[in-house]
Amino acid sequence: MSRLANQHAAINLGQGFPDFPGPAFVKEAAKAAIDADLNQYAVSHGAPRLRAAIARTWNERYGMDVDPDREITVTSGATEAIFDAVHALVSPGDEVVVFEPFYDSYLPCAIMAGASLRVVTLRPPGWSFDPEEAAAAFGPRTRVLLLNTPQNPTGKVFTRDELATLAELCRRWDVVAVTDEVYERIVFDEAEHLPLATLPGMWERTLTINSTGKTFSMTGWKIGYAIGPDRLTAPLRAVHQFVTFASGTPFQEAMAVALEQAPALGYYGDLRRDYHRRRDALKVVLDGANLPTLPVSGAYFLMSDVSHLGFETDVAFCRWLTAEIGVAAVPPSAFYLDPARAPLLARFCFAKRTETIEFAAERLAKIPKRAPATA
Ligand code: PMP
Repeated sequence: MSRLANQHAAINLGQGFPDFPGPAFVKEAAKAAIDADLNQYAVSHGAPRLRAAIARTWNERYGMDVDPDREITVTSGATEAIFDAVHALVSPGDEVVVFEPFYDSYLPCAIMAGASLRVVTLRPPGWSFDPEEAAAAFGPRTRVLLLNTPQNPTGKVFTRDELATLAELCRRWDVVAVTDEVYERIVFDEAEHLPLATLPGMWERTLTINSTGKTFSMTGWKIGYAIGPDRLTAPLRAVHQFVTFASGTPFQEAMAVALEQAPALGYYGDLRRDYHRRRDALKVVLDGANLPTLPVSGAYFLMSDVSHLGFETDVAFCRWLTAEIGVAAVPPSAFYLDPARAPLLARFCFAKRTETIEFAAERLAKIPKRAPATA
């Protein structure tokens, strides 16, 4: 969709990345790290200062006692951590349980490891799931539950009760949970993010994956990390060592400073308020443009219902929107094992400047109030 967006000079509300500047204190830290000649390989599992900052942040926030030396690994974004975790834990013939729609890297990761996905369906508009269907997805070949909360593309934040159901299934089937929590800091209204690893008995069987790219709006810096007990961290590090070996040293240093300084600067509260405002701004625009939005509790995407517009697929709608209206969105069928199962929705990213949203609003106002002729 980004290629198509470029081709038509469309406003790209498809791909998930912020188009606003990153925080100045983090940029200054990166410049200082480069000036200090931090140019050589970092320790493979992460610069000690960054691992210490991650441990302190996690321990203070969730009342945990993570050891930065043995239980934290810094990776090239969450993408690499997910790849490493799946390859560390899964063998050919194994099964990985995911919630559908699921983030797009999960399927290729499973395929490359020789495993297959078992999906549990999240149903709009609330994106709840049937506990019986979840229970039926687990079995003797299940090795990993790959869980994303807050979730891309739905904006769902899994509740304590839902997590307790999943924790029970993981314990019953001796399954490891790999949780993708990259939107941990981006939650709205009454929603609260809760790491599965903090539930009783789950620390021992969970790898929690995160990304400073989302928290500090620097997705191109690719500093992600995984937290988990020694017995899960050791195999993950073994994969990491031969996938990327280490990620960029000055950016690791800058993210250490970011995590150290963020609480005193009130950064996380500002981030949350800021995204709240962006979400509400785009929601008003989409609702007013005949693209009614579904409720969203976290992450930085809105899903619009497009089923009344006369298109056969979400791909057809998104192509039309990009080419004819000049705004790009992502068709959520890309997040389904069988695209035909996807409801007719479109995903819009609101990690965008006010001007971008206003500019998109002008174009979206051209959407006919009735079904467009071409479908
Ligand atoms: N997981 C989810 C759910 C995401 O949305 C993204 C980014 N789009 C990633 C992982 C990748 O994170 P990173 O950029 O740190 O590799």
